[in-house]
Amino acid sequence: MENARREDEQEDDSQREDRLDERQRRQRQCEQLQGPARERNRDRAEPEPSPGQAREQRDLNGSVELDAPGLERLQRIRDLEAGGRTAGYEHSEGGVRRHRCDDAPVRARTVAAIGAAGAASVWSAPAPAPVVPAIASALGIPTRLASARGVALTFDDGPHAHGTPAVLEALDRVGATATFFLVGEQVERRPTLAAEIAAAGHEVAAHGYSHRLHLLRTPRALRDDLERALSTIEDAIAEETTFYRPPYGVFSRASLNIVRRSGRQPLLWSRWGRDWRRSATPETIAEQATAGLGPGDVVLLHDADHYSSVGSWRKTVSSLPEILDRVAELGEPFVSVTQST
Ligand SMILES: [Zn+2]
Repeated sequence: MENARREDEQEDDSQREDRLDERQRRQRQCEQLQGPARERNRDRAEPEPSPGQAREQRDLNGSVELDAPGLERLQRIRDLEAGGRTAGYEHSEGGVRRHRCDDAPVRARTVAAIGAAGAASVWSAPAPAPVVPAIASALGIPTRLASARGVALTFDDGPHAHGTPAVLEALDRVGATATFFLVGEQVERRPTLAAEIAAAGHEVAAHGYSHRLHLLRTPRALRDDLERALSTIEDAIAEETTFYRPPYGVFSRASLNIVRRSGRQPLLWSRWGRDWRRSATPETIAEQATAGLGPGDVVLLHDADHYSSVGSWRKTVSSLPEILDRVAELGEPFVSVTQST
């Protein structure tokens, strides 16, 4: 455990990257692309993929031409996701690391990988969109508000029995409106809480039914997931959703098409608090979420720890007064994402 903790503390030390050999470098890139499952499940046995997962993997490998590095990377991602997802659902602690491709070295390597990957980029091209604004722009995936007025706070991964009410209360204190990207499987557990979000005047949007990486799923599985997410979430709030954000902020080419055909609009983010990380503090969350903040920004936060470090929502809630203050200082209104269109 001590070693695991030390490694975690050193994650941000980019100087150490120089000492990694090429294999470690590739592995770290994959982890930073896909999340912290391995870190938090290091002490757990890696679960075997279900028959369904194995079939899905075969389908994926069979339907897309991948070069060897692409296959290797895909398999690593699959392993990471299988471990995180299976371990954590009930206990809110097994989640998959996400939204990690945020620092310059990773961004640079991601861009380089796209250029070098050849066939692999066929399936991975949309993946770096959250970290490479030019790619998101080329794919037509917005990261900012359509109107350059107001700031949109967005909360992913809920509803959560404790995190969501605490966030609602903090927003209510200053009369702020936000957008909650809900996960269908969590709405199924707490439909009333989903309805309360909407009843409080906030926007509800979709974040998938299961919190699984799109790159590893077949078009049929993606369609089923979206349909189930929309029916679960929209039944709970008794209205249609407009926006969709994929788990980990990563679309596959197929999922982007499927979401668009459903009439929902994709939306990523332009600022984030990196509040899912174990090492985050209320201060770092507020600082990162508001650094360079301006009109039209979409800020990513989380009101739930279903797929991130245990209790992460408490730190997010503690960071909110500072974040809300800073937005108010800008003189910009809090808007939901639909209000901006
Ligand atoms: Zn998420």
